[in-house]
Amino acid sequence: MSATTTFMVWIDQDLCTGDGICSEICPDTFEPRDDGLWVVREDAQHFGETIVFDGTTGPGKGPDMSKGMARVPDAVLDAAIEAAEECPGECIMLEPFDQAAIDARGV
Ligand code: SF4
Repeated sequence: MSATTTFMVWIDQDLCTGDGICSEICPDTFEPRDDGLWVVREDAQHFGETIVFDGTTGPGKGPDMSKGMARVPDAVLDAAIEAAEECPGECIMLEPFDQAAIDARGV
């Protein structure tokens, strides 16, 4: 199972304030990392498995920063856009879907 997706998202953690507004608005796509910064995720209900791009290793884990690129399911795209608009750090980066960028993540 894989949701249709026309956008992907990543967070510039250098600018994240850690307030968590993003995951309040769009919990399928954003979640906190142990150090108090927020990262992107792909949820199993949309993509068959959950992958958290928090820079740790192991099943369901992926790179963070600019390589922590999550596909945004079209079903929650409006919420992801709202999260980016409300983000006080202006650090949520939405980009048009690019298969080569997704392949380069290494997960
Ligand atoms: S809304 Fe922006 S600044 Fe706040 S936790 Fe999410 S990514 Fe970080």
